[in-house]
Amino acid sequence: MNLLLCGEWDDAERDTWAEALRMALSPRDRLLLRRGEVDDALIDAVITANPPPGSLAGLSGLRLIQSLWAGVDRLLLDETVPHELPIARMVDPAMNAAMAETVLWAVLSLHRGFFDCADRQRAGVWQPVLQVLACEVPVLVLGFGQMGRSAASGLARQGYPVSAWSRQPSAHVVPGVRRRHGEAGLKDAIAKACIVVNLLPLTAATRGILGQPLFDRLPEGASIVNLARGAHLLEADLLRALDSGRVHRAVLDVFHTEPLPAGHPFWDHPRITVLPHVAAQTDLRSAAAVALANIDALAQGAPLANLVSRELGY
Ligand code: NDP
Repeated sequence: MNLLLCGEWDDAERDTWAEALRMALSPRDRLLLRRGEVDDALIDAVITANPPPGSLAGLSGLRLIQSLWAGVDRLLLDETVPHELPIARMVDPAMNAAMAETVLWAVLSLHRGFFDCADRQRAGVWQPVLQVLACEVPVLVLGFGQMGRSAASGLARQGYPVSAWSRQPSAHVVPGVRRRHGEAGLKDAIAKACIVVNLLPLTAATRGILGQPLFDRLPEGASIVNLARGAHLLEADLLRALDSGRVHRAVLDVFHTEPLPAGHPFWDHPRITVLPHVAAQTDLRSAAAVALANIDALAQGAPLANLVSRELGY
């Protein structure tokens, strides 16, 4: 089969991906680094990370788009991608584990006041912070999918009272995690949450969810951790909530515009921690294996894994 590797990356990044994929590629398959190497109609599948809009148009023989990224919101917005074409997203245990590490670091640092200690170090101030037990810090994880389950499980093992929110009632039992769903489940959990961790996919229903209506329902002084997508957060609402004290701190890994533009108020806000979209990066080796397993399934006519629902947007 002819597989086109395509994404919004520079040549060096593309070549690194090509090398990882070629190491695991079946002799049956050929990896193409650009269109034009074979007739467009002969390309069977695209392996991609954030393809520029329109770049997959006109591939009439295409049978699968396999994303190397977990979030496919940009791909789903590209109207030139035929609606009937299967899109598979990246589901990789290595990414889930990385996300759980980032969530644990952020929640522990917020709960134990370590971000405040870092501020005081810069100001040359020696001032201990109040120590609170983990079991006194309820954490709400928005999204109980691959990332949410892994993160919620890690937090529960650490002793935090964890609630996790999904769209539908979840069949996944994670010890120590209380499952919530729908509007009523959110309303109840949000009123008690000291820390909210966002791991939702970006869809029409979740865009802007981290905004004033949600902040107003939090206990005073709660903190926000957004590791999903920048467009989940209404930036002006967050700044207002920080100013008023309703929100104490925010840890942000994702932004409306990435890289975060110079001069953006988040850069030097004293109570915002900025990460450069590194909460859970795709691991080349394991992601290549996951992507190629789906290519094998395509070749054998077996069911494809990790397919995205266009209707739901994730
Ligand atoms: P999944 O599809 O596995 O899980 C999504 C979860 O969100 C499900 O539990 C789903 O509910 C829930 N959900 C979706 N819509 C709603 C809604 N309207 N109301 C309530 N719950 C909802 O996704 P992943 O866990 O793999 O990834 C989540 C997101 O994390 C990605 O889309 C991506 O944006 C982001 N991400 C960020 C990374 C980073 O480095 N910062 C790296 C990787 C991913 P249900 O269970 O009912 O379907």
